[in-house]
Amino acid sequence: MKTNTPRDMLAPGGVIKATPSVKKPEVIRDATTFPDTPMDDATSHDGNEDAEKTQTKNGNAEHNTSRRGHDSAEKNGTKPKSMADMVWEAPKLDGPQVFKPESIQKIGYATTSIGVPAIYFSGAEIQKLATSLGHAIVGKFSHSIPTSHQIQKALDTIKFRRGFTWKYINAKHILVQFEDIADYARLLSGPKGTPVWYIDRHPMRVLKWSPDFDAYCESPIAAIWCNLIGLPIHLFDQSALFAIGKLLGTTFQVDRATANKSRLSFARICIEIDITKPPPEEISLDICGHEVVQQVKWDKIPSYCGECKHVGHKSEVCYAARPSERPP
Ligand SMILES: [Zn+2]
Repeated sequence: MKTNTPRDMLAPGGVIKATPSVKKPEVIRDATTFPDTPMDDATSHDGNEDAEKTQTKNGNAEHNTSRRGHDSAEKNGTKPKSMADMVWEAPKLDGPQVFKPESIQKIGYATTSIGVPAIYFSGAEIQKLATSLGHAIVGKFSHSIPTSHQIQKALDTIKFRRGFTWKYINAKHILVQFEDIADYARLLSGPKGTPVWYIDRHPMRVLKWSPDFDAYCESPIAAIWCNLIGLPIHLFDQSALFAIGKLLGTTFQVDRATANKSRLSFARICIEIDITKPPPEEISLDICGHEVVQQVKWDKIPSYCGECKHVGHKSEVCYAARPSERPP
């Protein structure tokens, strides 16, 4: 096996220590953004350990095509493709790929920048390119990175609902792509609300992938759970919770007790927020002209350092910005 894993990391396979919660959260799907697809229960992984190949949940690394049996009508383009389709239907290449200019969509605007050849891509073009990655998360190992076997085993242990693939980006980062937003939210929010998973002894912090991903700058976008204490009982409803969540950020999911109304003292929602900006700790609910102040109790929000662009500490205590203060 040709490996891009550091040699010193070839330890025996381990399991993710974080125990997946028994009660699965319920994802709030925004039909306008995430087209729903039929659920299919995931099959078990058959143990493909080759880091050179795309790692998939059902072990079909050799044929990384759609697993949902699209018929020819769909392939002919009679049905719009979802983001998941674009991710899972990537063609399998056995040799070099020849450019066929007549069939390539022309994007970008060639220009020069201070005498250097340059190309400009618009926001819409970049967005479209980024969309082809689907729901993607960067896993970051700050100290040591596990072997592909350890990573595959740990991800399998989480028991995602649908398919995922992962690849090494470099010696510190992996990219995990999900078919289902629920699985994306699950990994991004981390075990017990902390965005750090343990793969054997290696802590893996999870960060949202975005087009401006930079291996040296961490994304300040994180999925954080919050509790709406004393939310009026009739607002324990998917539409109402989604609308309220949108005031705070990108709403992902509610926990099971909120979804089935088994705990009415508070509603619990997972929301993607920018941790560099303190999120609201109260919002106002105007219920037919009757205004109620609603407290929002956030789980611990990680610090973000604007100096070194890393999650986990504040700028005031950044050693990267002030090396002289680094402890011996
Ligand atoms: Zn820092």
